[in-house]
Amino acid sequence: MQFENTLAFARKLDRIDPLKKFRTLFHIPKVKGKAVLYFTGNSLGLQPKVTKNYLAEELTDWAKWGVEGHTHGKRPWLYYHKFTKKGLALLTGAKPVEVVAMNHLTVNLHLLMVSFYRPTKKRFKILTEAGAFSSDQYALETQVKFHGLDPNEVIVELKPRQGEFTLRTEDILARIEHHNEELALVFFGGVQYYTGQFFDIKKITQAGHVAGAVVGFDLAHAIGNVKLNLHKDNVDFAVWCSYKYLNAGPGAVAGAFVHQQHATNFNLPRFAGWWGHYEKDRFQMKKGFIPMPGVDGWQLSNHPVLPGAALLASLEIFQKAGTKNLHAKSFLLAGYLEYLLNQVDAAKAKFIILTPAAPQARGCQLSIFMKQNGKKVFDALTKAGIIADWREPDVIRVAPVPLYNTFEDVYRFAEIFKKALN
Ligand SMILES: *Cc1c(COP(=O)(O)O)cnc(C)c1O
Repeated sequence: MQFENTLAFARKLDRIDPLKKFRTLFHIPKVKGKAVLYFTGNSLGLQPKVTKNYLAEELTDWAKWGVEGHTHGKRPWLYYHKFTKKGLALLTGAKPVEVVAMNHLTVNLHLLMVSFYRPTKKRFKILTEAGAFSSDQYALETQVKFHGLDPNEVIVELKPRQGEFTLRTEDILARIEHHNEELALVFFGGVQYYTGQFFDIKKITQAGHVAGAVVGFDLAHAIGNVKLNLHKDNVDFAVWCSYKYLNAGPGAVAGAFVHQQHATNFNLPRFAGWWGHYEKDRFQMKKGFIPMPGVDGWQLSNHPVLPGAALLASLEIFQKAGTKNLHAKSFLLAGYLEYLLNQVDAAKAKFIILTPAAPQARGCQLSIFMKQNGKKVFDALTKAGIIADWREPDVIRVAPVPLYNTFEDVYRFAEIFKKALN
């Protein structure tokens, strides 16, 4: 598309946007009575108006039924983890048996590493991106120590080439091939939280499997943002949180994916709880853990119904919007933002966009690396009614989200950013 740097053009894109009505389904925060320009759906997604009703329904059933709500409620609580499977499967490109909402992201990462990181004398290394989200780093480090190994010898962190900001797929693949039979696990973000780079999940998984390693992904910044095909791509396992692009609210119930090929591999070691136990016998309270087939067999506890209701409310919006529409708009929003930013500073004297320019290598987030006065510029944006995100030491992350951001939002951002720079 040939973009234009005018408000009229931005408004035209909004008029022809097939998702334009979806913005009205969300609460847009206000400052001094004015709707903010919200670009932090990658950190905490906005609240769907319908979420309150979903929560209220469960509170009503609890009031009305007490414990009987487990079976008599409108959505019986006993089966609550099943209600979000369809939506999660759609967004991850998975089968319902492969996805479940449970726990929190880091908890799920630990649980799945117990099963999928099985170091041996010869094959014990983990390949991952340098500068991964802190919680992922801590999980890997402590899992390695749990096996009595030294993280410095086990964890191989891949850095971009000198003078580059993101990893080249060819370099990731070469590194996998290089470590080959030493590799027990390849673990990457789906979309890197800092740079916004969308890794080539298919190629990384293929290469990892050729090397004989297990391959897992953290989809915190990928789910609800980019197109995922976890089943087809043969990813072994994945985890995510639901409060970022999934709009399920602060501290939302997270999720996990285990590929169908592992669904009935009951030899995998695991830390178990009763909700992962064979469903028909769950209430017999008998000795001997029999796992449910599929990812459900990794559940520990009964489902958190209130967070589950908030997730369900949000997923139903995604299902209505359709992933094709979402990805098409995301592509345009990020493209328009990039176009406008490049006009602000064509010489790249003041900032550089770290996020890859190739649309298949990013989602809707652009990370702006500030060459000078980064924090000052960011504070000026905040003062002007923009909610963006500052990441130390010098990056402003901006994520126009296709469900509720407009092209006019993006245009206004660029105008304010230009003023803040000068
Ligand atoms: C947001 C995020 C987390 C947060 O972990 P929680 O367990 O949800 O607190 C972890 N990893 C990545 C990559 C993230 O983006």
